[in-house]
Parts: sequence; C-alpha cells; structure tokens
Amino acid sequence: MPEQRPWNFSAGPATMPEEVLRQAAEEMLDWRGTGMSVMEMSHRSEAFGSIIGQAEQDLRELLVVPPDYAVLFMQGGALAQNAILPLNLGRGGRADYAITGAWSVKSEHEARKYCDVQVACRPESGFVDIPPLPQWRVREDAAYLHYCGNETIDGVEFHEVPGGFAPPLVADMSSTLLSRPLDVAAHGCVYAGAQKNIGPAGLTLVIVRRDLLGYALPACPSAFDYAVVDAHHSMFNTPPTYAIYLAGLVLQWLRRQREGDLQGIEAMAERNRRKAAMLYRCIDSSSLYLNRVAPGVRSRMNIPFQLREPALDAAFLEGARAHGLLQLKGHKSVGGMRASIYNAMPERGVRALVEYMVEFERSH
Ligand SMILES: *Cc1c(COP(=O)(O)O)cnc(C)c1O
Repeated sequence: MPEQRPWNFSAGPATMPEEVLRQAAEEMLDWRGTGMSVMEMSHRSEAFGSIIGQAEQDLRELLVVPPDYAVLFMQGGALAQNAILPLNLGRGGRADYAITGAWSVKSEHEARKYCDVQVACRPESGFVDIPPLPQWRVREDAAYLHYCGNETIDGVEFHEVPGGFAPPLVADMSSTLLSRPLDVAAHGCVYAGAQKNIGPAGLTLVIVRRDLLGYALPACPSAFDYAVVDAHHSMFNTPPTYAIYLAGLVLQWLRRQREGDLQGIEAMAERNRRKAAMLYRCIDSSSLYLNRVAPGVRSRMNIPFQLREPALDAAFLEGARAHGLLQLKGHKSVGGMRASIYNAMPERGVRALVEYMVEFERSH
C-alpha cells in the first residue's frame, strides 16, 4: 500500500478514517480473541451484543440523544426511509415537506403514496437558497414537517434547525449527521444512511421520539415498523452487523477527536468549519471557479463548484487524479465538480485540493 493514500472526495460511499480501516483490518480474522471475524458472528452472540450496545451508547453520548428517544439500526438507506417514515409517522393523514434540493424532492414524491402531502416551501429558481421560515406553509395538524438537513447534491445546508412550527420536525441528515452538534430534542425523528459520514453502506440510523411510535399503518412491513424494531433492540431480523461494527469504530474515533479545548463532535465541527471556509475562500477569490449557493446556506460537507469554462472540466479532473485527488466529478444534475469533505477528510486533504485548484487556474 502506498504511504499516502489519495484524497477521496466521493459524496458517498465516502472516505473513511484511515485509523478505522487499519483497526478493522487488524481485527478482520479474529475479533478480540473470539477466533471469528465480526461478520461471522451470530447477531445474538454476547460479543456482537457488546458491539451494538457500545455503538448505541457512543452515538447517544456524541449527539446527546435524550433518553425518551429510540436509536434504531436499520437497512434500506435514506430512500427506503422516504417510505418507512410516512408508513410509521404519517398516520394516513397529512405531512408537510420543505423542498430545498434533489433529495427533499425525492422524499416528498415518495410520501405522496402514503400521505396527503403539502409542499411547505420551494425556492423560486434553482436550489441555491432556502426560503425564509416566515414564508413556509405548514399545516397545524400535519403529522410531521420533513426537511433535509444537508442537500448532498446541491450543497445547501440548514445551519439552524427550522423550529417554531406545530408539527414534529423530521430530518434527513444522511450527509451531515455527526458533522456538528445537533439539537436532537428539537426533532421528532432524525434519520441518516451511514455511507456519507458514519460508516459503510448498508446501515441506516433512525433516532425517533418514542411517543410517536405505535401508529404504523397496517401495511407497514414488520421489519420496518419502528416500534417493532425498537422492541427488539434492532434485532427483529438480522441487522447489518459488519456495517454496525464499522460505524461503531467510527463513533469511537469521533470520541477521541480533540481540537484545543473541544472534543468529539464539537472538535469535528470546528475542523469542518475551517475546511469549508478554506475551500469557499478559494472558489470565491478565483475567476475560474464558481459556487452559486447563497453564503448563508452553503454546505460544510458537500461543495459543488463549476468551472466558468466547462471545456476545462476534463483537464481539471485528469490533473486532479494525477495529484491524488479522487472522485471530484459533480453530480450529473448539477454538473461541474463537487468536493465532499466529510469528517474523515482531514484538513491536509482540503489543502491539497485548494493548492491544486490554484495551480490549475494559474496554468489555464
Ligand atoms: C445519499 C443520500 C440519500 C440516498 O441514500 P440511499 O442510502 O442511497 O438511499 C438520501 N438523502 C440524502 C440527504 C443523501 O445524501
């Protein structure tokens, strides 16, 4: 293996902390003297019970999850949650959806199969800003109000919880959970696919207030009924054991992070703020690169940018690869480039990208 792995800016599945990958490699054949890999263990074994128990405890401590919230380890990704959520919390009634980008569009479409859906807000043109809260149309009797905390494709992020509405808030936090402190108690439910900022694909985290459980529609599959999953401690059926183990190692890694007096998520948030500022500064001060998102809602995790001369896209990507900077091609719906700089991307990686961008602009 090369001494320095390339910097991987994939939007997801995304780069993992190298320390975690090394630990997983060391423990691959024999997890702590059991003579088994974690992926070979019964999910009912004492060993795996300690792995999932520790992961839940670490998640609860990192995010300060109140005790009346269930933490569920599920499968199906965020797109499956787009159906599972209304099946569980929609009660066959009304649900309102804030539209701020490609992922919230998908959530809203899927929910229409199960609920009377109203769009709470939608920007007039392009996903480059979030309509101000006083303009949102939210029904008092909606079962919940859904929003996407960070639009991974468009690079639009809520920097404050959209509070003050009557219905419980539900958030798709797939690409931002654990990147900064979150007021879990301000939400009825938060969910996230793991493969952006938490671990490998195959695991979906759901954090849900228990008083909202028990109202699933009769058609809801038992394996996707939050109350059933909670009652069985995420073991109604076989959970994605190896993905849970890896996410657990990431959570332990997060707990070890320090930044001055800050630790854990707060340390991470400070580092993420600096990383994003470095990249936006490079984009805004250049005459080649462009990011159209309103400064107040720019994402700290996914930074799309265009080259003002799209004819240079291919040369930019080829040069990037040669400099050990991978997976920078933007989503096809937005075009241009996208740098995803999740927790596991060190500041050194962002600096390497910025240095390359400056050099590329100078030579073109
Ligand atoms: C990646 C992503 C999804 C889709 O997740 P899947 O695991 O592929 O279902 C949904 N929402 C957001 C915000 C995402 O970043």
